[in-house]
Amino acid sequence: DIQTNYRPTKAVIDLQAIEHNVASLRQHLQQGVQIIAVVKANAYGHGDVEVAKAAIKAGATMLAVATPDEAVHMRAHFPKTDMLILGATPPNFIPYAAKENITLTVFSTDWLERAAAYLPQSQPVRLHIKIDSGMGRIGVNSREELIPLYESIIASPHFILDGIFTHFATADEEDSLYFDNQVSLFKELLMALPSKPRLVHVANTATALVKDTSLQYDAVRFGISMYGLLPSSYIGEILPFPIQPAFSLQTELVHVKQLKAGQSLGYGATFTAEEDIYVGTIPIGYADGMIRKLSGQEVLVGGERTKIIGRICMDQSMILLPKAYNVGEPVVLIGHQGQERITLDDWANKLGTINYEVPCVITARVPRVYK
Ligand code: PLP
Repeated sequence: DIQTNYRPTKAVIDLQAIEHNVASLRQHLQQGVQIIAVVKANAYGHGDVEVAKAAIKAGATMLAVATPDEAVHMRAHFPKTDMLILGATPPNFIPYAAKENITLTVFSTDWLERAAAYLPQSQPVRLHIKIDSGMGRIGVNSREELIPLYESIIASPHFILDGIFTHFATADEEDSLYFDNQVSLFKELLMALPSKPRLVHVANTATALVKDTSLQYDAVRFGISMYGLLPSSYIGEILPFPIQPAFSLQTELVHVKQLKAGQSLGYGATFTAEEDIYVGTIPIGYADGMIRKLSGQEVLVGGERTKIIGRICMDQSMILLPKAYNVGEPVVLIGHQGQERITLDDWANKLGTINYEVPCVITARVPRVYK
């Protein structure tokens, strides 16, 4: 065996937190509502295979990914689990989808026509129709588009219409006007169908947690709060159960030195010590996803808050040390140490983005390890 992960920089994923979050959601759902674990984008950067295992253990019955390649990757680890590709899939994926029972999202008769060239002789392909009720991304948004699509699927021996779904743009906001309009359009289109497919699903995390329970339909698509993160601060105020964050980012000091008053460091020599200080170097930089805009971000060492100083380099960064720590001293970038905690939301605030984006952009160079 070749050893890997020599560098002490790691994303440590708490799988018990994932299990706790899924099990709590399960308690909260109406009887018989299935949980679709949204594990696209490497499980929002948390590590898709291990997260999916934990989610299934805690009661999820289906996995949702974004792309055909993600489905292929997950199928190798989960040969039997129901799996839905949420995004657009090129028709040349159909033979694989049929053989491996991957459910595809469909939203145009044009796609069905192009699909004809790839239809397999044997097993049919399972499809979910996507309704665009106001997200404006993919989906059919009128009866005129929906009914011909529905009829073509039903008429074909090569397809099984297994589900229908939509996605909300504002489910995490307090003002529900836009949300209510999306719900109305979805309901109107659902009613227009001669019969309902097996799985009707509309709820993302925010909808599943705080909206009318009738919107849980047959399944909910549980993403952000499975990872212990809030879809928005508004949802945080009315959350029905506590969630536990799963993601932490840790490293160790690889070098410690003193900087004398007046000495500078880093590219551009942008940081200059005003007094004699101790500086630690940590082996993580912008090529790991800790982008340069995070200069000045707080980190934890010895249970205390300190901060990144100077410009972040590609592979390394410098932090201010409260005292002369030894090389090997643990440094927490995201997560807790003693009484202190730095969250993905802290990084998101610093970066002017949302918590969803932060673990997704921690690059593959940072190994995901599990506890
Ligand atoms: N459903 C679809 C179609 C999505 O694109 C996403 C995530 O972007 C989700 C569900 C999960 O949303 P959330 O992470 O807010 O639960």
